[in-house]
Amino acid sequence: MYDVIVIGAGLAGLMAAAAAAELNKKVLVVAKGRGNLYSASGYIDFLGYYPTDRRQPLENVTRALEDIVENNPQHPYALLGKEKIDQAFRFFLEVMNRAGYPYGGSWQKNRIHPTAAGALAPTSLVPQRSCLDLASYQDILVVGFREMLDFYPFYAADNLREQFYLQGEKKLVRAVWLDLGLSQERELNSYDLAVALEDEAVRFRLAEQLRVKVSEHTLVILPAVLGVRKWNRVQDHLQRMLACTFLEIPTLPPSVTGMRLAESLMGYLEQRGVEFQLGYPVTGALQEGKRCTGVKIATASGRIQVKEARTFVLATGGILGGGLRVKPYSITEEIFKIKIEMPKEISHQDFFAPQGQPLSRTGVKVNSLLQPITAQGEPILTNVFVAGKNLTGYDPFVEKSGNGVALVSGYAAGWLAGKGAFSYEAV
Ligand SMILES: Cc1cc2nc3c(=O)[nH]c(=O)nc-3n(C[C@H](O)[C@H](O)[C@H](O)COP(=O)(O)OP(=O)(O)OC[C@H]3O[C@@H](n4cnc5c(N)ncnc54)[C@H](O)[C@@H]3O)c2cc1C
Repeated sequence: MYDVIVIGAGLAGLMAAAAAAELNKKVLVVAKGRGNLYSASGYIDFLGYYPTDRRQPLENVTRALEDIVENNPQHPYALLGKEKIDQAFRFFLEVMNRAGYPYGGSWQKNRIHPTAAGALAPTSLVPQRSCLDLASYQDILVVGFREMLDFYPFYAADNLREQFYLQGEKKLVRAVWLDLGLSQERELNSYDLAVALEDEAVRFRLAEQLRVKVSEHTLVILPAVLGVRKWNRVQDHLQRMLACTFLEIPTLPPSVTGMRLAESLMGYLEQRGVEFQLGYPVTGALQEGKRCTGVKIATASGRIQVKEARTFVLATGGILGGGLRVKPYSITEEIFKIKIEMPKEISHQDFFAPQGQPLSRTGVKVNSLLQPITAQGEPILTNVFVAGKNLTGYDPFVEKSGNGVALVSGYAAGWLAGKGAFSYEAV
């Protein structure tokens, strides 16, 4: 019997496991797949754009949060409130420090970071090594690799130069292609290149080609390929050889930065005694009244295994993660068969409508204890806490709040599950 079973190993599930483990609970994480961190940036966006028709990055995040609390009570940030948000972010920074992949930044202030296309986009927390102030660099070199797919340094440099110019900053933004002589047979993705750069000989080749183009004042912007598991050693070595500053930017999937976050967090959780059962779908649940007593897990042999716990966290990633099933006239949560309210309009004709696509907001309705509730507000299950993209009330894409909500609600769900807080009085 576990204290807490977390279903899902995306950021929400991992945060829930970390919060419950911090309370010294016996925790099991069951997931059928790896979660979205392997394809997303691994940056934590708390709230990039608000209101969502405003295409300028949000400056006063605290005021926007007050507005959400007042006008959008079903938004996960409104349900949890500023204090829990603050606790969750402090906890994440602390845990990532312990996990050996430290992050920097804060939820109250958006930092502006380049994307792979050379756009400047808002985000809140980034890996500590990427926590740089762009304003202090006048000489920028964007580096691409001939053997790598999907990163075009001249295109990114042109966009960056233009955006700095529009902001009234004149910078020297150059670009260069490097050829590390790695593969003649096929183009490599960012993961392949990151693994290759863990080899010292490949790093020497990179340094040799770059040396004539950089000084100690140069900011080298390159796709996130500086090592997967040995990122520390790779980056220290390059820094020693070249003395310039490196800024990695997240790439299209597979995302090395997301992978580093997921793997260091999982490694840390294993050390804390959290058990993982990855590659196993949860197909249903055992219930006694409004309490869940166990989950049914499908094994490779086709047998169903039942695992019991006192409390459960449902962090199965909504429609994209596989947690919600969409049929032509209904949407259902897959494990507890919770019926989801259909949006009146399924989609907007304008794909990039500033108010977002209605389906992006679809999810499980919860109370402030993150228990699933009926349309009338009655808890459906008292010892199940819902987190991450399963939740309704927000749109991660137009708000730029995906990992922010996953982090905050995952932390809160794990904490509530660990405490066994089934009622408001118990919190
Ligand atoms: C391409 C892309 C890029 C993004 N980039 C960013 C970004 O840069 N910054 C940002 O803040 N947000 C970003 N987002 C949004 C953000 O990634 C998500 O909102 C967030 O990761 C959701 O986390 P989650 O843990 O709720 O779900 P997920 O990461 O989807 O995890 C769901 C987990 O549940 C498991 N699961 C599902 N069903 C079952 C089942 N029946 N049994 C067992 N396990 C199950 C899955 O296998 C998985 O482990 C991006 C999203 C996408 C699609």
